[in-house]
Amino acid sequence: MIAAALPILYPRELLRSFGVLPVELWGPPGTKTAIADRWLQAYTCSIIRGGLAFLAGGGQDHADIILVPHGCDSLQGLGSVLLDFPVLSKPALSFYHPRTRSRASVDYLEAEIESLAEELQKITGREATDALEATIREEEADSVLAKLLAGRLQVALSCRDYYRLVRCREYLPAEQFTALARPWLSSESGPSSAMPVLLSGVVPEPSGLLDALNEAGAVVVADDTIACGRRLTPEGRDQSAYRRMAERMASAPPCPTRGASVEERSRHLLDLAKRSGAKAVVFAVVKFCEPELFQLPLLKTALERAGLRTTILEVDVTEPLPQQLKTRMEALLETMS
Ligand code: SF4
Repeated sequence: MIAAALPILYPRELLRSFGVLPVELWGPPGTKTAIADRWLQAYTCSIIRGGLAFLAGGGQDHADIILVPHGCDSLQGLGSVLLDFPVLSKPALSFYHPRTRSRASVDYLEAEIESLAEELQKITGREATDALEATIREEEADSVLAKLLAGRLQVALSCRDYYRLVRCREYLPAEQFTALARPWLSSESGPSSAMPVLLSGVVPEPSGLLDALNEAGAVVVADDTIACGRRLTPEGRDQSAYRRMAERMASAPPCPTRGASVEERSRHLLDLAKRSGAKAVVFAVVKFCEPELFQLPLLKTALERAGLRTTILEVDVTEPLPQQLKTRMEALLETMS
């Protein structure tokens, strides 16, 4: 079975243990969003507009289940639209992520995982099998992804192709992602004279953004996007599968959608920049993304005080990158060369 999974965090391994493969919807790019407008406010982000338009426009026919984690207020609103209006012919499930990092968060997540398991059991008509093994497979895939993100300069791929590989994590089974990505960890690339940048924001979209980075002579050496680097969950320790899934989710890098403060985020970004050698931070923020936009003024100030250059690009994931944003990025990089 296939679950169309909206952002952001959810226990992939739980779905796999019920024989369900999550395939994520981040837009999708190029989706015509007009069909979604009747249900949404004009200031809703393009991830939500695109996701709803895709599902309502026939995309749901490719899925057996729709999963809408409550990653932010807009996703919560989307969950209500999907449950309250006659949009879906497929069952919709939700998953709530707590907004603090504490022992209570792990307890809460474990309870959420248990109740999601009950729903999956009703829909699939089967019990979870090998949940701990499924968790270990996801841990291995995340570990390979973490190394891939940390070793960008060893991978001889353009920005676009590199992210095509990274983002296979959003739809391939964990074991297939691991097999595909692992050989790239031992690849060798020559020295690079490109300007090293840290990509933050929501998602590396539209893909023209990646081409524009390449063309402007930059290379992404570290990632803090919600879709990629901010979902790198470490190994859990507990031998009980659901507790271990909860531990992993509670330990994901700081993100405002999970209640992280500006201080936590600036510490994390400065550390990423130090480890990777990034000289600038490019924030690719989806228009109307409140969790990101609220923090950006203070975050930008903190990073610039510490010596990093920054630029903010507000994008719409369903539309091409505007020329004006390419020019802004080129201007930043020119002043640094
Ligand atoms: S882009 Fe921002 S507002 Fe939109 S779904 Fe993602 S976190 Fe929520």
